[in-house]
Amino acid sequence: MNILIVGCGFTGAVIGRKLAEQGHQIKIIDQRRHIGGNCYTERDVKTGIMEHVYGPHIFHTDDEEVWNYVNQHGSFKPFINRVKSIVGGQVFSLPINLHTINQFYKKTFSPIEAKAFIESIGDSNIENPKNFEEQALRFIGPDLYDAFFKGYTLKQWGIHPTQLPASILKRLPVRFNYDDNYFSHKYQGMPEHGYTEIFKSILNHTKIEVELDCEFQRAMIVEYDHIIWTGKLDQWFNYSEGKLSYRTLRFEKNYAEGDYQGNAVINYGDESVPFTRISEHKHFSPWEKHDQTIYFKEYSSECGDNDIPYYPVRLANDKEILDRYLAMAQAEKNVTFAGRLGTYSYMDMDVTIRQAMNIAEELLNNFSK
Ligand code: UDP
Repeated sequence: MNILIVGCGFTGAVIGRKLAEQGHQIKIIDQRRHIGGNCYTERDVKTGIMEHVYGPHIFHTDDEEVWNYVNQHGSFKPFINRVKSIVGGQVFSLPINLHTINQFYKKTFSPIEAKAFIESIGDSNIENPKNFEEQALRFIGPDLYDAFFKGYTLKQWGIHPTQLPASILKRLPVRFNYDDNYFSHKYQGMPEHGYTEIFKSILNHTKIEVELDCEFQRAMIVEYDHIIWTGKLDQWFNYSEGKLSYRTLRFEKNYAEGDYQGNAVINYGDESVPFTRISEHKHFSPWEKHDQTIYFKEYSSECGDNDIPYYPVRLANDKEILDRYLAMAQAEKNVTFAGRLGTYSYMDMDVTIRQAMNIAEELLNNFSK
């Protein structure tokens, strides 16, 4: 089969490789001038630091097959993300753990005491939390919610946490020990030579052709037996049912000598600080030595037509529109929708790769019928 894949992020690359390995001819196009989608990394010209151009990407997963897959395509170095949050002029440890709780309440609780205390301040009247705020009030109570989540979430999503799904908060654990590993996954790491090298390896197959700086045109469809669309779901349908909302990010890049903040990621919980977090990229490659540093202030805003979409918002209104698009997507015969944008879902890299593997498997089954 002759297959066109639109978009060269993990979804497009992984599906392309799997299909190519089974003898299909793959063309991958991307409107950008580089492979890798939002995972793209390159060395900053002035400092030589590996820059995560579209924001920090830390690989973490429980999926052994996915972990083996990325390791086959590049070497990974151990990396544990230990995030701090600055709130009200103080530095705290995230995700909320025993250190955070003891520091915040000026206590010396043991794990059992801390658990009992947090349970006592959580609102037990909320039986089934229906949104982000209720989830927070139920499980951590109003003080920690106000300090660490309310302001940050307002800045990140641009809407009140009562309108956001509880699932977003469920991404973060609350721990009653001093474990400050931001992720709870078994496998975690950073690609030693950046993500772009991983993409180069995945795409390195005789049956894969990549064309960059290439906009998708509907006229291309006739040349292929099947299309895999990893762009925005609503864009494929010319926004006929309305626009799905996304958040975009802006990164303000700064240079400094030495070490700027002493950590890879520091969040800013206060609503009065306009950015959500600062990431200092040399700390993502702690095995390298650099005298200078680069750091990025991250600003979140509504995604306009010409902005890069990062996060699907999935408000009630979006869900209605989404259902209509999903029905339309089902009815498309020779088009498969995949990835964060193509399925309008908030997926991490590992889940994206897993989805791509599964989709490739399904397609191969269907093609052979
Ligand atoms: N969040 C927050 N304060 C923080 C970190 C996270 O309120 O200091 C909330 C925020 O709504 C965010 C969500 O938790 O969107 C999930 O956080 P995560 O770090 O997983 O977000 P990502 O790294 O994907 O942007």
